[in-house]
Amino acid sequence: MRKIDKIVVHCTAGNQSNTARDIVDYHTRPVSRGGCGWKTPGYHYIIEADGRIVNTVPEDRVSNGVKGHNATAINVCYIGGVDVTKKGLPPVDNRTPAQKASLVSLLRMLRGKYPQAKIYGHRDFAPKACPSFDAKTEYAGL
Ligand SMILES: [Zn+2]
Repeated sequence: MRKIDKIVVHCTAGNQSNTARDIVDYHTRPVSRGGCGWKTPGYHYIIEADGRIVNTVPEDRVSNGVKGHNATAINVCYIGGVDVTKKGLPPVDNRTPAQKASLVSLLRMLRGKYPQAKIYGHRDFAPKACPSFDAKTEYAGL
C-alpha cells in the first residue's frame, strides 16, 4: 500500500456536461492528437454533474493531479469549476447539489480509509484557482 497523507480536491476547469471518460481520454490521448499525453490520468475519482462518482485510477496507483505531491496523494475532481459562457473561463464554484453531496460522501469514505490524510484544494499547492472554492476550510470537519 502507498502511504497517503493528502486528499486533494480539483475541478476539471471545463464544461459541466463532460463525462469522466472525456477527462481520462483528454489526459491520456497523445499530444499530437490534442491530448495531454500523460501515462496516468489526473484523478482517482471524478464526480460528474449528476453526482455519479467514477473511479478512474486505482487508489494504490499514483495519479497526475498535483506536481510534486502525487506519490502520497489521492486526487478527487468534480466536473466544472469555470464559467464557460465568459471569455477566459473565469473560475466559478458551480458544483451541483448532487456533486456537493457526492464530494462529501467520497471524502468521508477516503478519510475513513486514510485517517492520517488531510483534505486540501489544488490551490493550496499551486498558484491557481482550482477547485474554485476553499476545499480545505469547507471540508475541515470531515
Ligand atoms: Zn487541480
